[in-house]
Amino acid sequence: MNLCYPFVNTPLPYAYDALEPFIDEKTMELHHNRHLQGYIDKLNGLLEANPPLQNCPLPLLLRRICRLPASLQTPVRHFAGGVYCHRFFFEGMGPAGRAQQPEGALAAAIRQQFGSFSRFRICFSDIAAAVFGSGYAWLVLDRDQLRIFSTVNQDTPLPEGWLPLLNLDVWEHAYYLKHYNLRSAYIEDWFQVVCWPVVEQRFLLASGSRRQIPDCYCS
Ligand code: MN
Repeated sequence: MNLCYPFVNTPLPYAYDALEPFIDEKTMELHHNRHLQGYIDKLNGLLEANPPLQNCPLPLLLRRICRLPASLQTPVRHFAGGVYCHRFFFEGMGPAGRAQQPEGALAAAIRQQFGSFSRFRICFSDIAAAVFGSGYAWLVLDRDQLRIFSTVNQDTPLPEGWLPLLNLDVWEHAYYLKHYNLRSAYIEDWFQVVCWPVVEQRFLLASGSRRQIPDCYCS
């Protein structure tokens, strides 16, 4: 997965139909091949016109967004955010039928912060359902604390210095073909295909990073 310009839309680590019946093949194909591709094309176009930003890794570009010239902040938030959020979302899923809950240190941290995994799931689902319009729900590490919150459009938690562990795309294009307007049904189905080993790995990286973003993190 490349982190710098020029960005390439690398294949998903699973087939478009691998998340069936929870997330349908057509949705995954359009989401990856058109929506993410569109953000990659726009980001490459933006960076082509701004060579000083071309060697900045994607997470760092987003984290330092407020240091950019004012005219670049909105397009970077939209296009770089669109690439980052979608890659992170796709990489956090996998075929159903494996572990449906986190294990190890992440499981312990979730129990400590939220009481139980089921309470975490309810809290995350409520935040995701409450996003007005388009955006994402996130689980992040804020220093030593887990935090659930949402962002609008393609905004990320990176400018806050928070390290993302898991995100859920609640733009309608993520679920409308199968779930129509029933976002809560989509959220329930999505929990069946969360790839917890990936989330656990992110948690271990984030926990050891002392608020720095390792290059290998969240590709
Ligand atoms: Mn999307």
